[in-house]
Amino acid sequence: MDHFSYQNGELFVEQTSAQSICDQFGSPAYVYSERTLTENYRTFESAFAGINPLICFSIKSCSNLSVLKHLVSLGSGMDVVSGGELFRALKAGVSTDKIVFAGVGKSHDELRYAIESGVYLFNIESEPELERLAALAEEAGRTVKAAIRINPDISDAGTHAKTSTGGRHTKFGVPLERARVLFCSDLYPFVDITGIHIHLGSPIPSTETYLRAIDRVEALIDEVESQGAKIELLNIGGGYPAAYHTDNTVPQSISSIGEQISERLQRLRNKGKTFIIEPGRSISANSGILLTSVEYVKQGWDREITILNAGMNILLRPTLYNADHVIWPASCQGFNGHWSELISAQTETQCTDIVGPICETGDYFALGRQMPPMQSGDLIAVFSCGAYSMSMASQYNSRVRPAEVMVSGNDCRLIRQRESYEDLISHEYGLM
Ligand SMILES: *Cc1c(COP(=O)(O)O)cnc(C)c1O
Repeated sequence: MDHFSYQNGELFVEQTSAQSICDQFGSPAYVYSERTLTENYRTFESAFAGINPLICFSIKSCSNLSVLKHLVSLGSGMDVVSGGELFRALKAGVSTDKIVFAGVGKSHDELRYAIESGVYLFNIESEPELERLAALAEEAGRTVKAAIRINPDISDAGTHAKTSTGGRHTKFGVPLERARVLFCSDLYPFVDITGIHIHLGSPIPSTETYLRAIDRVEALIDEVESQGAKIELLNIGGGYPAAYHTDNTVPQSISSIGEQISERLQRLRNKGKTFIIEPGRSISANSGILLTSVEYVKQGWDREITILNAGMNILLRPTLYNADHVIWPASCQGFNGHWSELISAQTETQCTDIVGPICETGDYFALGRQMPPMQSGDLIAVFSCGAYSMSMASQYNSRVRPAEVMVSGNDCRLIRQRESYEDLISHEYGLM
């Protein structure tokens, strides 16, 4: 459970009211609950205790330095997918033996940077990438550790087509068929090919999907080890669910997912293998909300349209993935309770499209949504916005990216300044 609840009709983030946050820092703003981040991280530790994995938080889900630093203080490692994310991880102070580096397109510069930094593990996605890494490691005179990311051909992961990453039609990983020979190869003296990596998509609604992939990987390990290879570690990636609740369904708990996966991995654990998990969304999504304000409520031909001061440049998920977020006024008279219970709030509702100010038809957060009556100036909360939200924000339409705020109890702290118009042009050369 996260710490976004209504008390006497007012939304609170831990012990801080949403209205007071926006009075201080303006809107739109992303607001995170530090306590929720902590609890979600600890939930992973205990859920997977049976395999005692290295937990590497997926930076791309929520990249703010203060968020990363907090997770590092809890003991988290980091999963990075670019040189920029590696830079963030190092700035956040994570020790390099807790950094894993994935991504299909690692450049020469990114690989060199990671080799020099001494990251713990390269998750390799193709033969040409392995060759490039081998050459650069040799050049640097350093031996590096690699896991081969397997494409296990699991295409029915039950997630949106754009977030399914384990199917044979996707760009990710080395096809299982082709991967075998890599583990037995001695062509690359500076690369210790010691692990297997999978990441199937995000979010994965059924634990069965992980278990099926683990069975395939386990068979592969048996096979290549019988041919003389030595596999030390298995990285089972991320993709664990978060609560969005618009359809009133609660995802399987992380505790039960972790226990089932850990149980299935016991045979490998007994053979001395070590494990890595890369949760992103499941730690960050329910740790953040977006606070935004109503600019106008207008009447269209056949519908009411509510226009917010935040649009697809600030929260892309609804239009990119058809993502459904619970959206509700931060003030809801008489309601006491967690946001997930809003559906049962005794409020009169009406149908409206909830859209942003961007000049695109796809700029919406929800179409045809039942909402309490709203008017200009009302503060609105979009829930479950800690993952793939601010980290995807852009300046499209030359709109500034919003502020980010961290709440801890009744203390709130600006952790990213709202951008200014000067920021918009700060990298450009004018004609003068
Ligand atoms: C994005 C990503 C993750 C995190 O996925 P979540 O669904 O946010 O847990 C983990 N590993 C890799 C390689 C990724 O690309």
